[in-house]
Amino acid sequence: TAAPEQVAVQLDALSFSYPGQPQQALDNITLSISAGEHVAILGRTGCGKSTLLQLLTRAWDPQHGEIRLNDQPMRDFSEPVLRSLISMVPQRVHLFSATLRDNLLLAAPHASDEQLTAMLMRVGLEKLLDDSGLNAWLGEGGRQLSGGELRRLAIARALLHDAPLVLLDEPTEGLDASTESQILELLAEVMKGKTLLMVTHRLRGLSRCDRIIVMDNGQIIEQGNHAAL
Ligand code: ATP
Ligand code: MG
Repeated sequence: TAAPEQVAVQLDALSFSYPGQPQQALDNITLSISAGEHVAILGRTGCGKSTLLQLLTRAWDPQHGEIRLNDQPMRDFSEPVLRSLISMVPQRVHLFSATLRDNLLLAAPHASDEQLTAMLMRVGLEKLLDDSGLNAWLGEGGRQLSGGELRRLAIARALLHDAPLVLLDEPTEGLDASTESQILELLAEVMKGKTLLMVTHRLRGLSRCDRIIVMDNGQIIEQGNHAAL
């Protein structure tokens, strides 16, 4: 079956604990996100934000409750369809010991060199092209990236993938204010019409989200729009 072009997300009484852990990382989360909605997720360290995004990529299965995409249980989707529906910038980005081109093609195997180069410019990583262009070797035996460069590389990957549901785990962590503004500007432009869940500790960018969710101890303790909170 063809992948849908827009994705609504329903979490229904979702609870999850990691294997061997007595306490619940997610405790009875119910949440309905409409297609195209932009949601920010806030909360102090360890409250379950990354876990929530992980479950949305089916990295783990919940012990209770379920996740539905467009009213269909997530477990009914095949791996390839799920992959085509979801783009993710994880909290810990992985750099492969490979060329810059291959590090990007991972997310978008059919992208042309022109598209890859254009995306690098948009996330402010054109500097990486200086020595050997897209053939620059990254990772072991090559160029290491700073934390901020790594995050922008992951954002470039996620945007090249161009999926209707985008999960961003602290996308602007470690970026200076002006680079952060540039990235938030870019996200606002390319996320139009896509469903977005963005975990963040930063207050900048929240006013652009339709809804802000505050978590504590695996639960949603508050939600509303920027003006209300
Ligand atoms: P931060 O803001 O620091 O990134 P977070 O809100 O993303 O925090 P999570 O990473 O979701 O928090 O972690 C929620 C809880 O689950 C924490 O108590 C954490 O220690 C625990 N946890 C996370 N990953 C694992 C794992 N792989 N195995 C066991 N426990 C885990
Ligand atoms: Mg986290």
